[in-house]
Amino acid sequence: MGAPTTPATTGTPPRPIPGVPPASRALTRPRRRFVAAAAALVALAAVGAGSLLDLRTPAPKSAAAPVGEFSAGRAYEDVQVIAARSHVAGSPANEQVRAHLEQKLRGLGLETEVQDTVAPEAGQLSGAAGGATLARVRNVVARLPGTASTGRVFLVSHYDSVQTGPGGNDDAAGTSTILEVARALTTGPRPRNDIVFVLTDAEEACLCGAAAFAASHPLAADGGVVLNLEARGSTGPVIMFETSRNNAKLVDVFGRAAPHPVGTSFAVEIYRALPNDTDFTAFLDQKFVGLNSAYIDGGAIYHTPLDAPAAMDRGSLQQHGDNALGLAREFGGTDLTDLRSGHDATYFPVPGGLVRYPGWLTLPLALLAVALVGVLGWLTRRSGRASTGRLAAGFALALVPIVAAPVAAQLLWLAITTIRPGYAELLDPYRPIWYRLAVLALATAILFTWYALTRRRIGPAALAVGGLAWLALLGVLLAVAVPGGAYLTTVPALAGALGGLVALRTRQTGPWPVVAVTAAAAVGVVILLPTVVLLFPALGMAMGGVAALVAVLLGLVALPVVDLLHPQAGGQRGLLALRARRLAVLPAGAAAVATVVLAGVGLGVDRFDAAHPAPTHLMYAMDAGTGQARWLSHESDPQPWTDGYVDGVTDVGDDFPGLGDGQLRAGPAQSANLPAPKLEVVADATAGGERTLRLRLTPQRAARLATLHVDTSTATVLRADVAGRSVPVEPRAGKWGFGLVFHAPPAEGVEVTLTVRPIAGQVTLRAMDASDGLDALPGFRPRPPAVGVVGSHSSEMLAVARTYPI
Ligand SMILES: [Zn+2]
Repeated sequence: MGAPTTPATTGTPPRPIPGVPPASRALTRPRRRFVAAAAALVALAAVGAGSLLDLRTPAPKSAAAPVGEFSAGRAYEDVQVIAARSHVAGSPANEQVRAHLEQKLRGLGLETEVQDTVAPEAGQLSGAAGGATLARVRNVVARLPGTASTGRVFLVSHYDSVQTGPGGNDDAAGTSTILEVARALTTGPRPRNDIVFVLTDAEEACLCGAAAFAASHPLAADGGVVLNLEARGSTGPVIMFETSRNNAKLVDVFGRAAPHPVGTSFAVEIYRALPNDTDFTAFLDQKFVGLNSAYIDGGAIYHTPLDAPAAMDRGSLQQHGDNALGLAREFGGTDLTDLRSGHDATYFPVPGGLVRYPGWLTLPLALLAVALVGVLGWLTRRSGRASTGRLAAGFALALVPIVAAPVAAQLLWLAITTIRPGYAELLDPYRPIWYRLAVLALATAILFTWYALTRRRIGPAALAVGGLAWLALLGVLLAVAVPGGAYLTTVPALAGALGGLVALRTRQTGPWPVVAVTAAAAVGVVILLPTVVLLFPALGMAMGGVAALVAVLLGLVALPVVDLLHPQAGGQRGLLALRARRLAVLPAGAAAVATVVLAGVGLGVDRFDAAHPAPTHLMYAMDAGTGQARWLSHESDPQPWTDGYVDGVTDVGDDFPGLGDGQLRAGPAQSANLPAPKLEVVADATAGGERTLRLRLTPQRAARLATLHVDTSTATVLRADVAGRSVPVEPRAGKWGFGLVFHAPPAEGVEVTLTVRPIAGQVTLRAMDASDGLDALPGFRPRPPAVGVVGSHSSEMLAVARTYPI
């Protein structure tokens, strides 16, 4: 198709592009620019590929690997035993897992025991909605005594699973890793320090096992170094994502001794802001130091029936084991008396290792970046590449893609979830790669469009300086607010400013300006590309905007390289100029088309089927006193299958305070012949206006948890004692102003002593227990193949409650 001509392009000579001084003729010739662009892009692609290859998991070692090494093949044999079926705390299946663990550790000649106790939850967690939370726990603890111990190293994972799945990854990964690490350690010379293997119970319920160990086990009395191993998905690199405070010395050991050290101080900051918790929290509460590691990609199966051994990426298991063994040996031989430093480290992965520098450097570096970008702007203006006005406009306009890309990414996900509402209940889609690429294409389209629109008016130099100025300023903000994340923008801004200064000061006809800006962009790629790749699984597609933001920041660092993709219209006339301008919108157009295509492929490829079911959430709750029963769901936009059970949102907090979640969708259900937990009065005494009730709460079924609530309009609870330990009396909102939740109740029941000040004649109590599995209930229709179970602690819960006036 021939190019149409217009007076504007044929008659008048084109305006020169501001920011391109007459000296830089070299890159005004299209062929030269094309060669430079191609060379720069190949170099950046190679650097990017190197960064991403560095995040790959190691090849799993077979069961025939040397005895001193960690073998994913050997560890996987334990995964199959541990995760043969769901084994929630207190269940017979969990007893079998525990027996296996004890037998394996004893078989290694380790001092092995079971810590059997009742413990409150660690910290104040989400489980607290129902009231004060406790559990009966049985931790498996084994010790490899050191030759001249300076402290203790604890390898920690939880052996219980959720009720909805077998925990093939979460946390059979950590538990089988610890068994295999223990085996490898016993084959070599004894370490200098004690190494303690702690396989905790009831992590899923309330972190109660870890809390019990950290607070009251004799081996925990002097603290020590904790290495906690987790999995929140099925694949991907093992990321060291959480540390104790003042982590510089620990991070240094991690960088030195872990064979595949993937971790960033930014993840630590993100994790502190997220409402997640692991056993590690319980140890931090007790002033241990340590590192917390997990692989997190493949999050769609998290806590679901699909989290089976077969779903596990054994490369991730190998990385868990290689790192845990390397760290256990290193901490096992180090003087542990002083592992705390006065500061947190900044650290991030680069090909071949872990860069780390002291956290106190973050603010000075951030300020240096601002200063250098300022110098670059001043020299740019002095060299005639941009006026003060254009520099100001470049700075203002660079904010546009920084804001637009994350917003657009969030809107894209909104559109995709509107088409496929089942995504709302998933941590991440089953096959997220297409959507992740779509977000990156979208960020690219926005950056390129913005650049094509602003470049002629503002000029490449002013826009590049403007972009770097935002990175440098963000670095200062981060250094103050989340210091561990400041390197993300500070280091690329420093590199960009230095690259710009070199480009300005070298001969414009030679290759050095292009080499300098490409090298600066490469620094941005090394730092920001792994961040983008790790952010997707860390936050899920629902927060894909964060990855889009980081992608745009990377694009701004690489702006001088992006500029090479734009044919220089300034030196040409007429048709050539028009063609040049058309070519300028090509990358933007291509990225926009790619966004649509990738999102479409995602929707086409990632359909729900039997192997990738649409998650649904259903519970059953019955009042044994009235016989009234209900189906309940926490789905906000119910799937068709769930819709067959529930209607509108109802407040069930008054009937089932033990669920801890009042606003649920509810629908009528048939009454089942199920007994409520028995509440017996063991003793009842009144003295000085205070009534002391000794009660025994005994589930009449195989219950996962039992709850007890007091109607505080009938009595004020003054003190509460559960299984001999006092629990905090914290008022709850609503009718049932006091409550407690007990996980894994023993068959003989739980003794609760309440001291109350009566208000009415009788105290009204409500007892509830909950088991799992809806299949046997009247009116339940099994799910069709493409319908699955939401990975939630209340999925498939069957609750029976009853009111007892006493
Ligand atoms: Zn879990």
